[in-house]
Amino acid sequence: MYSFEEIVGHKEIIEGLQQGIKSKKVSHSYIFDGIEGIGKKTLAYAYAKTLQCLKEGISPCNECISCRSFDSGNHPDVFFIKSEKKNLGVDEIREGILKEMEIKPYKYKYKIFIVENADNMTVQAQNALLKTIEEPPAYGIIILISTNYEQFLPTIISRCSLIKLNLLKPEEVKAYFINTNEFKDKNIDIYISFSEGSIGKVKKMLESEYFMDLREKVIGWIQEIKNEDLINIYKIQKEMENYKEDIELILYLMYIWYRDVLLIKHVGDNSYIINKDKVNILLNHSMDLSYNNIDKVLDAINNARIQISKNANLRLTLEVMLLQIKENDNG
Ligand SMILES: [Zn+2]
Repeated sequence: MYSFEEIVGHKEIIEGLQQGIKSKKVSHSYIFDGIEGIGKKTLAYAYAKTLQCLKEGISPCNECISCRSFDSGNHPDVFFIKSEKKNLGVDEIREGILKEMEIKPYKYKYKIFIVENADNMTVQAQNALLKTIEEPPAYGIIILISTNYEQFLPTIISRCSLIKLNLLKPEEVKAYFINTNEFKDKNIDIYISFSEGSIGKVKKMLESEYFMDLREKVIGWIQEIKNEDLINIYKIQKEMENYKEDIELILYLMYIWYRDVLLIKHVGDNSYIINKDKVNILLNHSMDLSYNNIDKVLDAINNARIQISKNANLRLTLEVMLLQIKENDNG
């Protein structure tokens, strides 16, 4: 059952959409943009359901035939375009949207098309869609869901209402998990700290042990860097290279570790620390390091993150970073 109430956060956006319905200023094309797992799809579904609801309120009534057929996934005037492929091609847009759009709604006020991963549309597909976005029929509404709206042609962006979903606050994410009673045995705070304000990301991390295993691995490496001989740096570098796909996450975990060391040294207060379950190790670590050392280590990790985002040579970048860490953090 889709409703605005089940959406966590994004209150201003919801109010904006509801205000639009009230003042009869519903747009014909929208982009709902935001990071993975932030609630774009739920919002698009709740909005489409509201627009088609026979009670014509600012929330779905959940009782009328329209709301019920929406929830069952069989609404005759709402269309879902999903593409698993990297490229959403012109044929899918033609078949899925353009042809259908020419036909009047079967029964309801609007004909609504929700395109998931719309930023995967090829340039040709976007161009094909453009004409419909420019001159939509009175009943036509297109909602494009994206994680990076800048992938769209400027002509598409300028003709759509761009709705950017911001990151949720940690307390909003936490409230969601408390309310839904999901994963209540887990130490949810750790996951939330690493979630960048996305409920979907927390769920993904919770569903596999991989994230926590990787974090342990990274903490292990950090202990080795400071305690072992220089020669072992190359062993660690080789191990890290095996996690090529997750190197950004690894560097992020390292960065957060040293940031925690800095915080515990500086503030002595644990409330801002992310690796809350490792306070004793952090405390010990902070005794070995000066502020200046920690700053240099953080800089080294940050530089590596920048280099890797620019596709620099992985081996070399890791080697430079690890040597700089070792120079400043040697037990
Ligand atoms: Zn209804």
